[in-house]
Amino acid sequence: MRYISTRGAAPPVDFETALLNGLAPDGGLYLPERIPHFDAATLAAWRGRDYAELAAEVLRPFVADCVDAAELRAHVDAACANFDDAADPAPLRALNESRGEWILELFHGPTLSFKDYAMQLIGRMMDAALQRRGQRALVLGATSGDTGSAAIAAFADCRHADVVILHPHGRVSEVQRRQMCALEAPNVRNLALEGDFDDCQRLLKACFAERECLPERYGHLVAVNSINLLRVLAQTIYYFHTHLRLDVGEAGAVYSVPCGNFGNMYAAHLARRMGLPAARLVVAVNSNDVLHEFFSAGRYRRGDSVRATHASSMDISVASNLERLLFELFDGDGARLGEAMRDFADGEALQAPASAEILRAFGSCAVDDVEIRDAIAETLKADGYLLDPHTAVGVVAGRRCGGDAHPKVFVATAHPAKFPEALLAAGVEPPPPPPALAALDGRAERFEVMPASEEALKAYIGALQ
Ligand SMILES: *Cc1c(COP(=O)(O)O)cnc(C)c1O
Repeated sequence: MRYISTRGAAPPVDFETALLNGLAPDGGLYLPERIPHFDAATLAAWRGRDYAELAAEVLRPFVADCVDAAELRAHVDAACANFDDAADPAPLRALNESRGEWILELFHGPTLSFKDYAMQLIGRMMDAALQRRGQRALVLGATSGDTGSAAIAAFADCRHADVVILHPHGRVSEVQRRQMCALEAPNVRNLALEGDFDDCQRLLKACFAERECLPERYGHLVAVNSINLLRVLAQTIYYFHTHLRLDVGEAGAVYSVPCGNFGNMYAAHLARRMGLPAARLVVAVNSNDVLHEFFSAGRYRRGDSVRATHASSMDISVASNLERLLFELFDGDGARLGEAMRDFADGEALQAPASAEILRAFGSCAVDDVEIRDAIAETLKADGYLLDPHTAVGVVAGRRCGGDAHPKVFVATAHPAKFPEALLAAGVEPPPPPPALAALDGRAERFEVMPASEEALKAYIGALQ
């Protein structure tokens, strides 16, 4: 299997190269050249398999040229072992059986958000790829939320990668800061930048653009953000697993997914193209509604500014993974998409082709903070279930535009204990911290404060030992 760039101006590469590159050299995102298809008989034969077995089946055609079946299985097993229940890392719970409502709980990993599901695999598979190549990588990331902690937890055991994560000093939540900075790992460094998240991203971009600051012993500078190919591939697994568990007909269920960068939802779409029956995919967003505008009006334009909401991990002005879907809408014409994306970066709106059949599978809905608070309070009262603010967005959106004809799966992207402030605002008592959080209590936090300057960051990286 080869991987092509959405901008059409970079050579196709194998899985391992796409994994290590992150972004393609032409600025595009990697996509599989052709999409494997699992027919109904194959899916039927998979019913009853546990998560790890299924993961190995789903991923195999994507990675087979670089990673053999035994190695893949070993990575998947090792990743699953880091979840609450290795045999069932992504449990499905009934929210309200008479209404056919289910919650897919994707918060049972080491940092309690769905980002762990892909990141745990990325850490292991990158480490193995680097070992094979005899190379060392510097993993560099900026975070305002859950990505940083998931990356740190995933790479902390890697022998061939060092990790530097930037966060805006004093502007991440208490829980998120502790998850990043209280983890003891010799290959991980946290930088608290004296600026906001945009400053972090700007400095990061500068480092990726001019890599000469990278010490020679690093063969790769790797980004850990939502555009990595393996993140999308790994996130298809839990949709198949859920489908095989539900007793739904050929039409499949409705999946309502809280969206930011569109990585999780693109995975659902990809799974559908691979043969997953799904009646509808509901794009659930908060007041940062660029995706809702796209799916309702066919127009994609950068948000004027990012609004702070209760569902803070979805506070974005651009949805990077939408480019993967746009590539399909542009009939795989990378040159034309590249041009449209450059115009988009300059502030122009991008129009979806009118005849876009693909878009019909999607619904979308924007949910504001008042609705988030109401949904948290009401769901606890009516169904006895405590939602985190992101999942609350998915529940409201799924109920509003998921229809009544099919069972609904609300994808729960974070554990409520991660967002106590939002729960308190909803008038709800936060739950006791789960073991993964409680274990951080009283531990020393390690981070260095740094001015928001390109020179300072480059000097820091250049001096890494
Ligand atoms: C990252 C994140 C999202 C958004 O996911 P995307 O793949 O970026 O759309 C939603 N909820 C939580 C809790 C997250 O951490």
